Amino acid sequence: MAVLVVADHDNASLKDNTHKTVTAAKALSGDVDVLVAGKGVDAVAAEAAKIEGVRKVLVAESDALGQHIAEATADCVLALAGGYDAILVPATSAGKNFAPRVAAKLDVAPISEIIEVVSADTFVRPIYAGNALETIQSSDAKKVITVRATAFKAAGEGGSAAVEKVGAGEGAGKTRFVSDEIVKSDRPELAAAKIVVSGGRAMGSAEEFQRVIEPLADKLGAAVGASRAAVDAGYAPNDYQVGQTGKVVAPQLYVAVGISGAIQHLAGMKDSKVIVAINKDADAPIFQVADYGLVADYKTAVPELMAALSAA
Ligand code: FAD
Repeated sequence: MAVLVVADHDNASLKDNTHKTVTAAKALSGDVDVLVAGKGVDAVAAEAAKIEGVRKVLVAESDALGQHIAEATADCVLALAGGYDAILVPATSAGKNFAPRVAAKLDVAPISEIIEVVSADTFVRPIYAGNALETIQSSDAKKVITVRATAFKAAGEGGSAAVEKVGAGEGAGKTRFVSDEIVKSDRPELAAAKIVVSGGRAMGSAEEFQRVIEPLADKLGAAVGASRAAVDAGYAPNDYQVGQTGKVVAPQLYVAVGISGAIQHLAGMKDSKVIVAINKDADAPIFQVADYGLVADYKTAVPELMAALSAA
């Protein structure tokens, strides 16, 4: 059985999601190749070649692949699909965009957001906002799978896979790249951060969110997250949202400030190693998952925490 992992990268560096997806792939087969589809990706391919257990790195380059246009990536993957029994893709926005296209063209059922590989045809995935786990068995000869990377350990370094150029496929079809706006931040990326500080509706305004949450995050070297209520109210940008319809994070430390802990929020952070909650309502559901819960007004608790961190 041969498995193709489609790398997550930004043309400059390889994302950790790729290492984690390789771990999932290795649970399926010893023959794991990685596809780096992009533009100007020599450095990314070199990083991928170092992942332990990778047999071969395939490099496909074109403008459309560099712009991560789903049609182009799907076409490139389809051109290679004949040689593989399973195609594994990190469940990022880009991955969730092209993987179903690949599955549809192959006429197989996509298997989404697996968190465990039981056997070569059986997988576990969360359903109902993470409230239940479903074990599914696929009888499709070729499997197209998106992987919830936070559920897998990153494969280590130490490999020395061969790097091979392959065709880029047909291209983007009718889709044309216009522009992208990438938020520049010195903070770690939310989905991969080791520490996340999130603010909720309790902040009451964007100014308060910036005054309270961002300095605490900077003090801890953390990424900033938010509940959907905070995002919908305009206190924080959309890409800060953690939860069922936002990002799924599993950092070492998750600090929730003024967040009630609705199941849709928990779906995005309950696998964090240590959860700290600050909420003035002792009955808030966030305390059911919190390792450390502080029943307090954030307006006093956060300045105290900041002072203690400065003193430490
Ligand atoms: P609230 O529920 O209003 O909680 C605010 C909390 O702040 C309260 O617990 C309150 O006690 C506390 N508080 C108030 N003042 C203070 C103070 N001064 N000091 C300390 N604590 C204080 N939500 C997400 O977060 N992410 C998602 O991805 C998501 N997806 C959804 C998808 C669907 C289909 C649906 C239906 C809902 C989704 N939601 C999601 C929304 C979710 O159901 C909740 O409405 C939302 O998470 C609530 O956000 P919150 O905890 O910030 O606000």
